[in-house]
Amino acid sequence: MPEGPSLVILRELTQSFAGQRIVTASGNSKIDKSRLEGQRIVALRTWGKHFLIELRGFSVRIHFLMFGSYCINERKDKPVRLALTFARKRELNFYTCAVRYIEGSLDAQYDWRGDVMSDSWDAGAARKKLRGMPNVLVCDALLDQNVFAGVGNIIKNEVLFRIRVHPLSKVGALPARKLRQLVEEARRYSFQFLEWKKAFVLRKHWLAHTKKVCPRCQIPLTKAHLGDTNRRSFFCERCQIRYRRRPA
Ligand SMILES: [Zn+2]
Repeated sequence: MPEGPSLVILRELTQSFAGQRIVTASGNSKIDKSRLEGQRIVALRTWGKHFLIELRGFSVRIHFLMFGSYCINERKDKPVRLALTFARKRELNFYTCAVRYIEGSLDAQYDWRGDVMSDSWDAGAARKKLRGMPNVLVCDALLDQNVFAGVGNIIKNEVLFRIRVHPLSKVGALPARKLRQLVEEARRYSFQFLEWKKAFVLRKHWLAHTKKVCPRCQIPLTKAHLGDTNRRSFFCERCQIRYRRRPA
């Protein structure tokens, strides 16, 4: 699943479409595509894992789900969910994604402070949200898009390994210093992810995700589907501490 940093890459790749007029809109998405034809793109934005094509008075929201993908100025040999064409043979194609309209202003509907990749990211607000969910497991909290929009499973595994927190720790049991680290690392690692992904060296920097041996302890990592989110976790039972009780 594309995580927040991958969406930032898409946003950067599509910036030249801002100001362009959509000539045709097609694809197997059920939205009323005729509404898009003739519309000029105001801006291309992202919030977490949402790609947002902002038009005058409404927007298209694209969510790439588990296997979504896109093609810019070329096409794949598979059914397209939404295809937009522009002058001079330019086009944007989206596959295996969820497409819907958002009416009105995006600023009224999105809290940009909750997006780990946003200039408006607010770490204090994230900590406050976390303090309001003490019984949630940290592996679920990191994937909660209301707290960490853009964080996906890779970021979850890498952040927990880097701050030495066991995925089954409860949020409310984390000492204040660890809670702060969790929030800071979620953003810091997301930007490292972006840099490494752009340089095609993301996997090389994985310390825990899909790995078999703990690089700190040289013992096997544990792999398990954990939490309500039931996503793959890779972690070390020795150096990642499982916080169980609320600190005194
Ligand atoms: Zn270890």
